[in-house]
Amino acid sequence: MPTTAHTKPLVLANWKMNLSVQESVVLARNLAAAYSKLKLKEHLELVLCPTFPALAPVAEVLKRQSVCLGAQDVFWKPVGPYTGEVSARVLKELGVTHVIIGHSERRQFLKESDAMVQQKVLATLAEGITPVLCVGETFSERQTGQKYLVIARQVASALAGVTLTSGLGLVIAYEPVWVIGSGQAVETHEAQETALVIRHTLLDVFSESTIARQVRIIYGGSVDPVNIGNFVGRGLLAGVLVGGASLEAKRFTNLMKKL
Ligand code: PEP
Repeated sequence: MPTTAHTKPLVLANWKMNLSVQESVVLARNLAAAYSKLKLKEHLELVLCPTFPALAPVAEVLKRQSVCLGAQDVFWKPVGPYTGEVSARVLKELGVTHVIIGHSERRQFLKESDAMVQQKVLATLAEGITPVLCVGETFSERQTGQKYLVIARQVASALAGVTLTSGLGLVIAYEPVWVIGSGQAVETHEAQETALVIRHTLLDVFSESTIARQVRIIYGGSVDPVNIGNFVGRGLLAGVLVGGASLEAKRFTNLMKKL
């Protein structure tokens, strides 16, 4: 098993479009306080991903805290006439360190293609921000035996032309689409097996040492305080992306306390 340079698990909170700006600020404040008080920094790296308009006020809350700020999307051009879009350049300016890219909700509802995802990964890395590339199969792709083909295609196409120069990081989140928001995570062995497939695909793009030092594979999909131990630190899994269970300070703190 390859060793990894990242010793602490990575925990990302994806708040999606569930909270107002004010609610995001309050939750960030409560979580930052718990993270500091319980010395959770010794056990995990935490990234909070609020809705775009909440990024600046949440950044203010996280100032002088060791909790990182993440965005839920990015556009692939650095500047120009792209109404409604947000560039990696602007995210960087706000203090964003991670960007979720290719989430299944965007692939499904916004028709985000593999080509768009690849452009977003390149643009994000160009600003020195860590992409959190989401990949995962739908239920019907799983039922028809296409799961690993789909995942390998999503990883390979998103990383076409990507080089990870030193100092850059990349996170691949395995998120089975049919499990997201269902309250029922996949079995540990299924997440581990998929992480192995992802790693094999990564070996076509990066060297073993680059993967060990700069790439993390994590799991997302109905992770909660009860099942968190099934995923973090198991096999190749180096962290979690949490949606629903990250929306309430006490519940999310309980989840982090398990690490
Ligand atoms: C997600 O959508 O990224 C996610 C992991 O959601 P949930 O934890 O609610 O399944």
